[in-house]
Amino acid sequence: MNEHWDGIGFTSQRTRERLIQRLRAMGIRDERVLTAMLNIPRHVFVDEALASRAYEDTALPIGHSQTISQPYIVARMTEALLAGRELRRVLEIGSGSGYQTTILAALVDEVYSVERIEPLLRLARRRLQDLGYRNFRFRLDDGGAGWPEYAPFDGILVTAAAAELPQALCSQLAPDARLVIPVGNGAQQQLELITRTAEGYRREQLEMVNFVPLVRNER
Ligand code: SAH
Repeated sequence: MNEHWDGIGFTSQRTRERLIQRLRAMGIRDERVLTAMLNIPRHVFVDEALASRAYEDTALPIGHSQTISQPYIVARMTEALLAGRELRRVLEIGSGSGYQTTILAALVDEVYSVERIEPLLRLARRRLQDLGYRNFRFRLDDGGAGWPEYAPFDGILVTAAAAELPQALCSQLAPDARLVIPVGNGAQQQLELITRTAEGYRREQLEMVNFVPLVRNER
């Protein structure tokens, strides 16, 4: 059958497998991350008009001047956050489409996700529900302050670029927990990995990335 004529061709298993092959070729090794990305349908998280491009390795617009992150970056950040471990409680800042939230929900016990744009949050919540996930909680707020009520977290993932490392997020890390965050205020930012250690925090630079800015709410 012609893949593009069967109505679901663009989103077929074969199309998704090609994306996973590409992620492998780009150095993603964590099989749990690759399996989650194979199984979770990314086209559900973008507008129907863009569904045919959902399995390209590219960021796509989701309205409100925001984007769903490039699959490679989602994989890279998730792999760095997990570091091959089982995580119980994870915080995400910047729910956006809810795609990264869903990948996390498939891999950890509980996901807490903060988003400042209400229509995006509502859509994200409905997508996770429709896909059958129950282990998540959303909050409409400025994520720069984290989510103190549920801290400490075994991992924190920020999907918008912070001009500086938010101290509130560091302080909500459990011992040995990791924070993955793009830092910088230029067009490109440094993806950083912060680990809470017995002595304080270890700070490592992973690679250059391209995120929308983490906006500070006016209060
Ligand atoms: N993880 C998302 C990527 C979303 S883009 C996905 O998979 O689709 C970044 C998101 O961060 C946007 O939705 C933006 O509204 C949100 N954001 C920016 N600043 C924020 C802040 N201070 N608090 C919470 N969310 C914020």
